[in-house]
Amino acid sequence: MKTYSIDDLSITCEKQGADKYIKISYPFRYGKYAEIKSDNYTFQFNLNGEIKTIQGRGEGWLDAAEWLKRNAGNDWTYFAAGGYTGAYDFTGEYYVPCLPYDSNGIFGHNRFQSPEVTHAFEAWHQLINRLNAIDKTATPNKINGFINRILLMGPKTLEQRAHNLHEIIGGRVSVLPPDTRHVEYDVIPLTIADGCLYNCGFCRVKSGNGFKCREKQNILDQILQLKRLYNKDIVNYNSIFLGQHDALFAGPELIEYAAMQSYEILGLKNSVIKGPRLFLFGSVDSIFRADASLFEMLNKLPYDTFINIGLESADPATFEMIQKPLNKKKVTLAFHKMMKINKKYTKVEISANFLYGADLPETHMPSILDLTRNQLDHFHSKGTIYFSPLENIGSIQEVKNKFTEFKTLCRLPVFIYLIQRL
Ligand code: SF4
Repeated sequence: MKTYSIDDLSITCEKQGADKYIKISYPFRYGKYAEIKSDNYTFQFNLNGEIKTIQGRGEGWLDAAEWLKRNAGNDWTYFAAGGYTGAYDFTGEYYVPCLPYDSNGIFGHNRFQSPEVTHAFEAWHQLINRLNAIDKTATPNKINGFINRILLMGPKTLEQRAHNLHEIIGGRVSVLPPDTRHVEYDVIPLTIADGCLYNCGFCRVKSGNGFKCREKQNILDQILQLKRLYNKDIVNYNSIFLGQHDALFAGPELIEYAAMQSYEILGLKNSVIKGPRLFLFGSVDSIFRADASLFEMLNKLPYDTFINIGLESADPATFEMIQKPLNKKKVTLAFHKMMKINKKYTKVEISANFLYGADLPETHMPSILDLTRNQLDHFHSKGTIYFSPLENIGSIQEVKNKFTEFKTLCRLPVFIYLIQRL
């Protein structure tokens, strides 16, 4: 970890963060990266030279424990420190990701409008100009190589690379499963099936297309192209998201094929971050269709698998209002199947989403509590319930009060779904 100084810049080409994801209440970095520190900012870059995080210091920055992080879709997220304001109780994380686009984040302010964040982006652009102007004749080769990589990855190139990512997988990931919070949303997306089964009236993330599986050859082509795109930085990934909205319905053969091909070809075994994880969405009908052999297969994969099911409600009036073709009986059966699977398979966890909205019928919340409290005889640590806020959630204080009351009564872990795209 040798550091080289040029004027006020301290440049370190090889830094090593943690080798597994943990829940921690102070800024923490994972995997291998490189770093440049100026008087006021710390800029971190991935192994391809792409900017990864920016963290300010001193008076020109909002909070010493907060930082900006860029993902492979070229979106920036502001990680706000929430550890001391009870955010962990609401989200399961000590940091609250604040997004620059419309989401359902109910915690924290939109930091992207603050001058401190604007200045941080300006500082990154100024850094690129400075690196461009440095006389590199006397600097070590390693430093020059690193600087050249950064210069190749300017804002336009980063935009183009995000575009390439979306082209490979067939479009932007409109929403990641809530469980991807366990890996700080750092997943490689791979589309194994497009569309979804229900095309519900209320949904803001649907593609509008009917469900259709991809061919194996298409999945293989995506993996090979993803390997080229992520390039040197692939060693910093240990998790795959199988998209789009109902990969579980693709069935065991395609899921196993996609999971194993990506594990082998993307070299997840050699990731510098341990504990590979597989994330996917499912639906009520896909969980009915999935038999024991599918879960046996998942349990034997070299991943811990997280499946997130959209149950939304257990209330007939709510289903009618949100135009989702489900009913109380189906949701109740799916919920109990989920609980059985969570109990039986150590490496598989199924979580469930329910809606939260100020305009939903009064019978909505009690229907969920009936399932998640009255129909369970004790607390279960597996089978997280996520509340997915609709556009109108009413007052934040009321949300917090209702959520806290629900959390106290529910016999499963309960968190708010922070909708995030990729
Ligand atoms: S809620 Fe799920 S099933 Fe319904 S439209 Fe949205 S993605 Fe499709």
